[in-house]
Amino acid sequence: MNNHKDAIVVKDLVKKYGDFTAVDGISFEVKKGELFGILGQNGAGKTTTLEIIETLKPLTSGEVWVEGFNATDSPWEVKKRIGVQLQSAGFYPELTLVELINMFAALYNVHVDARALLKKVDLEEKAGAYVNKLSGGQKQRFAVMSTLINKPSILFLDEPTTGLDPHARVSLWETIEEIKKSGVTIVLTTHYLEEAEKLCDRVAIMDSGKIIKIGTPNELIKELLAGGFRRKIVRQEATLEDVFLHLTGKTLDE
Ligand code: ATP
Repeated sequence: MNNHKDAIVVKDLVKKYGDFTAVDGISFEVKKGELFGILGQNGAGKTTTLEIIETLKPLTSGEVWVEGFNATDSPWEVKKRIGVQLQSAGFYPELTLVELINMFAALYNVHVDARALLKKVDLEEKAGAYVNKLSGGQKQRFAVMSTLINKPSILFLDEPTTGLDPHARVSLWETIEEIKKSGVTIVLTTHYLEEAEKLCDRVAIMDSGKIIKIGTPNELIKELLAGGFRRKIVRQEATLEDVFLHLTGKTLDE
């Protein structure tokens, strides 16, 4: 146990797979209640970093602390405090949403109000439905909700909106913002810069296993502009994504 005031502290973290260095000496802290984004292209090392913090993978060197507990020495103390987004493929297809929530609650040995949880993610009407009858966006919202069953203080969301259409993405953003408001610390990875700009208090930009920059989205943009950067084309007032959302207001698969 150590007295870190931060939710997460990562110090000089290295992860090697044989000769290949996937995470190359990264350090960062995540403050309590913060929504922290890790941005990077495919293969940058985002998932590996998350899985080490979640105690699902051993590190090669460095230190990881979660709410004052060392992830290598006290993995169970870490596991108790975190929620990890499950992929919907992992849900039993023959159980309804309410039955799934009750099953997870039984596994965690906690009491939850399944319908209240479903309401939180706007799935109240689907309480008796099977997961494979949900749309992509609904499945993702259910997956995010399922991480809240053990009442974690830190949530890890690995590319939560990948593959979703624009409306479903915006709806999941609202869910994530609601969860943040309840005081949960959130670490999220994404390829979508717009998502990071909208949701994250601070972002770490990761490239080839290294963190090349950390700051608030505003700070990073200001710094870029202060360095003389100007867009070649002036930013549009609205995007095609805005047009699509404005016209349809619903997901394509609903
Ligand atoms: P994505 O956005 O595609 O999920 P990522 O940033 O999450 O990418 P990681 O999944 O962390 O990237 O992978 C980082 C690097 O480590 C990649 O080059 C990947 O091929 C490699 N890697 C990941 N897992 C293993 C493994 N078990 N064995 C060997 N190499 C691996």
